[in-house]
Amino acid sequence: MFLQKTIRKKVVVQGIGIHSGDPCNLTFRPAPSDTGVYFIRTDLPGKPSLKVAAKNVLATAHQTTIGGADFSVATIEHCVSALSALRIDNLFIELDGPEIPICDGSAGAFLSALLEVGLVEQDQPRKYCSITEPIYYSDGEKHAYVVPYHGLRLSVTIDFPHALIGKQKIDIDINEESFGRDVAKARTFGFLKDVEALKSRGLARGGSLENCIVLDHHEVVNPEGLRWQDEFVRHKALDALGDLVTLEMPLMGHVVLYKAGHDVMNKLVRKIIESPQSYRHIELGADLSLEARQTGWVAPN
Ligand SMILES: [Zn+2]
Repeated sequence: MFLQKTIRKKVVVQGIGIHSGDPCNLTFRPAPSDTGVYFIRTDLPGKPSLKVAAKNVLATAHQTTIGGADFSVATIEHCVSALSALRIDNLFIELDGPEIPICDGSAGAFLSALLEVGLVEQDQPRKYCSITEPIYYSDGEKHAYVVPYHGLRLSVTIDFPHALIGKQKIDIDINEESFGRDVAKARTFGFLKDVEALKSRGLARGGSLENCIVLDHHEVVNPEGLRWQDEFVRHKALDALGDLVTLEMPLMGHVVLYKAGHDVMNKLVRKIIESPQSYRHIELGADLSLEARQTGWVAPN
């Protein structure tokens, strides 16, 4: 029987907000069984909270924002993407301001913090959303689908009209090891002309070459260059894993994305939720298939 998991104890990630440039602190805290993942604004009266759920997604332009009556939190995907890989079911994420620390623009700092304190099994079984029939969503040339699979697999293709990016593809079984090795440290990226436009509107004041890959017409502006030649598509896989947390349940399926950003991911997750004929809620136990063990994704710690 695979039990739900949370973290052993609280851990803090410090940084600055990408838009304000101000210091901010994020605290991961253990949460009880059957809680899910919540953001809590500790600086606001009454400490309002909001669940990471597709129905709470407010905006999907360039990043994913969740919001409710009390507050919203932008760019949630980097700090929650590790939860999909580590299979953390229950977690409180406290923020002392409106922004999540951007860190180096990847999920590396969040993954390190979670691994540093470690995970603990809880008293309730984990329920997976196991895809039994394909579910498809498209919007023009962007498309996304999920088909049955014995673990969690991502195939992501991007195509940007830039000499350094072009068409890139990643195809990966997601587990703690593969996420840490191939995905977690891939940074977000932007184009110089867009960065300048954001700054002229008073946004991205915290944005710098410390937390974003910046491309001009021909090359990478960052003096240290890229971490991988295909860092761009690896980052898109990171983003997609973050968005999958809004499903509120670990996915067993193969997600295939073509030019799909946060908007398409949100539509896909909503479509999965609205298609109960195409998935089953399952618990995994001693009858776990050999293939599922081999992917490593569902293997016990
Ligand atoms: Zn991102």
